[in-house]
Amino acid sequence: MDQFLYISLGIIVYVLVLIVLRKLNYLRKERYNTCNNCCPCELKKPLERIRRNKLDYFINYITFQIYDFKRYKCTDCSMECRRWDKPFGGKF
Ligand SMILES: [Zn+2]
Repeated sequence: MDQFLYISLGIIVYVLVLIVLRKLNYLRKERYNTCNNCCPCELKKPLERIRRNKLDYFINYITFQIYDFKRYKCTDCSMECRRWDKPFGGKF
């Protein structure tokens, strides 16, 4: 019974953390004057969409797809990163 309680509490805390991080716009697309989706590097170059890998699918799966992460690559420094954005017309 105790074990069940701990697992339930763990899941609740995990979901709350996911919601808080989403509210804080953690890993969300960054917008600047130069582009709509900028690289975190100091050049602030636009990111271009690339194919998701298995880890990205796994992360979307364990975050209940509330973020729908997509994979991007910087057009300048070629750094790869994961970003999400609010869906069009979404209320969140
Ligand atoms: Zn960059």
